[in-house]
Amino acid sequence: MRRRKLTHVVAAIALVLGGLGVATATVTATAPAAHADECYSWPRTLGPGASGSDVTQLQVRVAGWVPRGQVMGVDGSYGPQTQTAVANFQRAYGLGADGVAGPATFSKIYALQDPDCSPVHFTYAEASYNCGKGFTGTAAQKENMKRALWRAEALRHQLGDHPLKVTSGFRDPACNASVGGASNSVHLDGGALDLVPGDSATSICSIAEQARYTGFGGIFGPGYPAHDDHAHVDIRSSIAWDADACAGW
Ligand SMILES: [Zn+2]
Repeated sequence: MRRRKLTHVVAAIALVLGGLGVATATVTATAPAAHADECYSWPRTLGPGASGSDVTQLQVRVAGWVPRGQVMGVDGSYGPQTQTAVANFQRAYGLGADGVAGPATFSKIYALQDPDCSPVHFTYAEASYNCGKGFTGTAAQKENMKRALWRAEALRHQLGDHPLKVTSGFRDPACNASVGGASNSVHLDGGALDLVPGDSATSICSIAEQARYTGFGGIFGPGYPAHDDHAHVDIRSSIAWDADACAGW
């Protein structure tokens, strides 16, 4: 009863505002709850058909929620893949899974985001050991690192929120060569992470296996040469997976 009455009142206001034209803009502007986040705040609700840099920012953060075998196209265009990823993200965090990114979705992302835009359970520093030299790369390489870490955040959540450790991330050419990295390693571009369990609830194989569901193009683990002691994941746009010594592979 009460709701019905309220609906009528809202409808009446909308009619009045619609007639005035000017006031309608005010109503629209108040729609997404303003949330001052130190990294990035979305200015509007986003759904299918939307495009722009705010869509790109969203895609970076939900890239770990695409279906198995897909790599998110971070292109600023809110298509079916983004819609599915947003719905999967919403479902995973107990939100209404409508595939539209509004205030509740953005609030969840703010809660998962550090002021430096890295996801809350990972740091740029841990992905920047670089043979003891720290991060020496470009802004683009740091962006790649951010994109890999957001997928790792999804992976961590899908594995039951158990901690994961990054043993290697960005590597400059000298460091990459010294640790035996491939000459075209994605580590050189900042977009690769070597992960190991942070507790006994997770195994290297479970990390590699679940990574297939978190938007990683490259996954190498046990059974792939020199990868028995960690799971390598990276953000390459094609699929290259091998961890065939894992029972669940
Ligand atoms: Zn690696």
